[in-house]
Amino acid sequence: MSQDLSAKQALIIGGGIAGVSAALQLSSAGLQVHLVERDDHLGGHALDFGCKAIDTCQKCNVCLALDKFRQVLQASNVHIHLASQLDALTDSSNGSGFRATILQKPQLITPAKCIACGLCAAACPVNCISPATPALGFTYYTIDRSRCLALQGQDCHKCRDLCPTSAIDLAAQPSTHQLDADAVLLAIGYEPYDALGQGTYGYGTIPNVITGLDAEHQLQASATILRPSDSRPPKKIAFIQCVGSRSDETAPLAFSSQYCSAVCCAYALRISRLLAQQLSESQITIFYMDLQKFGKDYQTLYSDCRDKLRLIRSRPSRLEPAADGQVLLTYEDVTETQVCQEPFDLVVLSIGMRPAADARRLADLLDIDVDQHGFLNPLGSYRPGIFVAGSCSGPADIAETIQRTSAVSARLLDTLRRAPLVANI
Ligand SMILES: Cc1cc2nc3c(=O)[nH]c(=O)nc-3n(C[C@H](O)[C@H](O)[C@H](O)COP(=O)(O)OP(=O)(O)OC[C@H]3O[C@@H](n4cnc5c(N)ncnc54)[C@H](O)[C@@H]3O)c2cc1C
Repeated sequence: MSQDLSAKQALIIGGGIAGVSAALQLSSAGLQVHLVERDDHLGGHALDFGCKAIDTCQKCNVCLALDKFRQVLQASNVHIHLASQLDALTDSSNGSGFRATILQKPQLITPAKCIACGLCAAACPVNCISPATPALGFTYYTIDRSRCLALQGQDCHKCRDLCPTSAIDLAAQPSTHQLDADAVLLAIGYEPYDALGQGTYGYGTIPNVITGLDAEHQLQASATILRPSDSRPPKKIAFIQCVGSRSDETAPLAFSSQYCSAVCCAYALRISRLLAQQLSESQITIFYMDLQKFGKDYQTLYSDCRDKLRLIRSRPSRLEPAADGQVLLTYEDVTETQVCQEPFDLVVLSIGMRPAADARRLADLLDIDVDQHGFLNPLGSYRPGIFVAGSCSGPADIAETIQRTSAVSARLLDTLRRAPLVANI
């Protein structure tokens, strides 16, 4: 017998594009959805990326993600819990679902009360107040808890005193509340590879070595990429592929990173093609091991880029600071079998995707498997009613994340339509 879904509730952990897509799909099927996000805003990583369009769309799908984030803010049966985490999950008293304990960090600014006037941000002596979601056009302000002077015991409350709607409460305390759910979907995403761990590439010490994520942030903020040291357009740019992917390095968490992150070749090519058009004087070199061709648009992207870029099959061994803010790159030219050194104005490390920081804790809490790399195993034989979606189960771009999540959401709905619950394998 098919169940009426309007009386059912789903709990989604993680408000990136996976969690948000699932929330839209499940709510449009009639479910009440609780979307729990650890940050002060929804969006995950895709919210911080820039559009890479040239004269035509490059199908990076960032705008697709932004559209879904806007839609979910309007959805009436999606209840959003920000700055929150799943603290415990037990079986519900009637035995047909779950009771979740949600821990919420202190809500220093209540989004519903904030009118985004910006008076607080202008008054903050340490600039720790900023708009939460400028990319969505609608925003409220958030306080960076780690830098707020009031939270460090200092007598600072200018923001609170100036707020015209009393949206700021610097004495707010963490709270817990409980939610009932018939199904739980984990969509906690990934962490970008921490390039500070790649010592030989000088990230964090050589000013004009940036990561792909830094490049994305610059693109989003100013639609182009400049050298951090002098804000000038770079003339010679190098991308180094597979930083933190396909390597024997096991830190952090003792999981191997011998996997391809699946997104770096495409984002590096898209950013390169954009820069090649914007900075027509520039020369762009991509150092790669193999260019991995994922997705049906990749071949067109690659063919379009091939003539505009210099592609060198080599994994550079060392980066050093050089005169005029340049970066001296050492690599082996495998065709000539000789070691070469070449200066660049800017080096972009194409960092990959690592398992979510909270994957292990949640896997233990919900009794689910992680694979040998530390990602949640989407095909594990979990307790009935528990599902895993998006990049927390392995690297994927936005389009694939949405596709995978749609399949998992359909499985979740199917499970709830049937009574009693059956295992999700
Ligand atoms: C440098 C870089 C550039 C990229 N550029 C592109 C691109 O141009 N186009 C493209 O298609 N893809 C790109 N990607 C891939 C893209 O980022 C992912 O496909 C997408 O973000 C995956 O979405 P997600 O929801 O699975 O994960 P995430 O974006 O990581 O979202 C997960 C969410 O869960 C939250 N969360 C985590 N733990 C918890 C917890 N315990 N409790 C509650 N919430 C939690 C996080 O705060 C976050 O909001 C890029 C990746 C990288 C590394």
